[in-house]
Amino acid sequence: MASLATRPAPAPDGTTAATTGLLTARTADAYQDLLGQVTRDVAERLRTVRAPSVGPDRRHLERLVEGVDLDGPGVGDAAALDEADSLYAAHAVWFHHPSYLAHLNCPVVLPAVAAEAMLAAINTSVDTYDQSLVATLMEQRLVRWTAERIGFAAGDGVFTSGGTQSNLQALYLARSRAERTAGEERAALLPRLRVLATEAAHFSVTRSARLLGLGEDAVLPVPADADGRMDVAALRQALASVDTAGELPMAIVATAGTTDRGLIDPLPEIAGAARDHHAWLHVDAAYGGGLLLSRTRRHLLDGIEHADSVTVDYHKTCFQPVSSSALIVRESADLAATAHHADYLNPAAEAAAEDAEPNQVDKSLQTTRRFDALKLWTTLRSLGPDALGDMVDACCDLAVEVRELLTEDPDLHVLGTTDLSTVIFRFRPEGLDDARTDALQPLIRRILFHSGRAMVARTTIDGTPWLKLTLLNPGATLTDVAAVLDLVRATGRGLLAGGRLAAAEETR
Ligand SMILES: *Cc1c(COP(=O)(O)O)cnc(C)c1O
Repeated sequence: MASLATRPAPAPDGTTAATTGLLTARTADAYQDLLGQVTRDVAERLRTVRAPSVGPDRRHLERLVEGVDLDGPGVGDAAALDEADSLYAAHAVWFHHPSYLAHLNCPVVLPAVAAEAMLAAINTSVDTYDQSLVATLMEQRLVRWTAERIGFAAGDGVFTSGGTQSNLQALYLARSRAERTAGEERAALLPRLRVLATEAAHFSVTRSARLLGLGEDAVLPVPADADGRMDVAALRQALASVDTAGELPMAIVATAGTTDRGLIDPLPEIAGAARDHHAWLHVDAAYGGGLLLSRTRRHLLDGIEHADSVTVDYHKTCFQPVSSSALIVRESADLAATAHHADYLNPAAEAAAEDAEPNQVDKSLQTTRRFDALKLWTTLRSLGPDALGDMVDACCDLAVEVRELLTEDPDLHVLGTTDLSTVIFRFRPEGLDDARTDALQPLIRRILFHSGRAMVARTTIDGTPWLKLTLLNPGATLTDVAAVLDLVRATGRGLLAGGRLAAAEETR
C-alpha cells in the first residue's frame, strides 16, 4: 500500500486515482450523464429489437468475451458502458419480445426498473436497521402486505434472492420445528425426517433436503392424479406409511403452480392432511404467487392460508426485475430458528431489549442483502395491485386461448391442462411414429433457439419429450403466439423433409 508520502497528488478538482470511479457528490453530474447514456442505449435497443435474440452462436460469443482485456488500462465510463451495450445488450435475450415464450421469465414493469436504478445507486443493505432505516420498515410492510394477501393474520417473512433460497429456508424452518418437537439428538433424528412432494415439485426441494443433511431418500415422491396435481389419497397413504415406519413427516411441500405445467396442488385437502400428521406445510407459490393479486383467479389459491410458509417470486408473476422474492411465514416465532447474533452486527443483548431495532438479518439466510422490496413498492404505488393482477390474468387467459387454438390443430397436440399460463404441446403431423416424434421436439427447439427468432422451451413428461410455452408476457397476443406456432410447424416440416431429421440427430 502506498504511504501518504508516495501517494500521487490529487488533481485540481480533488480527484485521485483512489476516488475517480466512485459515486459521490463530485460525480453526481457524471452519474446523471452516464445513466442517461445507459437509458438511451437500452431504449434504442427496445425500439429496434426484432426478435428475442440475434441468434446465439456460442463460439462467436466466446470470442467476444475472451477478446476483452480485463487487465488493460481503464477506458473510462462512457467507453466501458458503450462496450457493455455492444457486448451484452446486443446479444441479450429479450423477455418482453412476444416471440419469447420459453421459461418463467417476465417482461418487467417500468417503475420497478427505475427503482432498481435508485436502490443500486444508494446501495442500501437491508440486513440491520442501522444500515437501512426506512428501507427495513418498507420491506417489513411489504412482507405484511403479502402475508395479508395470503390470509396470515400475523405473518412475517423476508425478501430473498429467489424461490430456490425461499424453499431452502422454509425447509430449514420445518427441520428446526421437527427438532424442537422431537427433542432428540440431531444425528438420530435427521435420517428419519421425510419431506413429501410430487415429482413436479421444484428441484430445489430435493436439493434443500440434501443441504439440510437429511437422508438421500428423505424426499418421498407423492403420486399425482391424472392431470398432474398431488393426489391427496396417495398423500394420506404416504403419511400413514411414514408413521408406520417410525419416520417423521417433517414437511409437505405443495406446489402452487408447478414449473412445467402450472398446476396447483389441492391446497385445502393437503392442509388437512398436514394438520392431521403435524407436518409443516410449505406452499411453493414461486410461480402462482401472482394470483394473490388476481381479481378473477385468487380462489385457485384457496387453502394457502393454512400453510406454515409460502414462497412467492415477485420476479415471475409480479413482473419485477430479478431478484425479487420472499419467504412468508404464518408464525413470526418460527423465523427465530434463522436468527444468529453477532456482536458487531445484531448483539443478542440488544435483540432481547424492549424496543429492539428491527433487524431483518435476524430473519434471513443472507447478511448483506439488496433492497429489492423498493421495486415492488414503487410498482404497487404506481400501478396499484389490481393492474398487476390483471396482467397475471392476461397471461392465464392467453394460455386458455392458445390451448383452444391447438385443440383444433392437426399437427400440434396439446398436453393436459394448466391452472396458470403454460402450454405443453408437440409437433406431430399425421402418420409420424413415436420415435421420430420424440426425436423431433428437442431439435425444433434447438433450431428456433439458434435462429433467435422465437424461443420455446422443452421438457420431458413421463419419459416423453414435449415443447413448452410459458406465457408470462401480458402484452403478447394470440396472433403473436400463433406466429411462433407456425414457426414450430415449419421447422418440424423442414426437418422431416429430405431426411434432415436423421442428419440433425447425428449432429446432436
Ligand atoms: C422458479 C421456481 C422456483 C425457483 O425460483 P428461483 O427464483 O428461480 O430461485 C421454485 N419453485 C417453483 C415452483 C418455481 O417455478
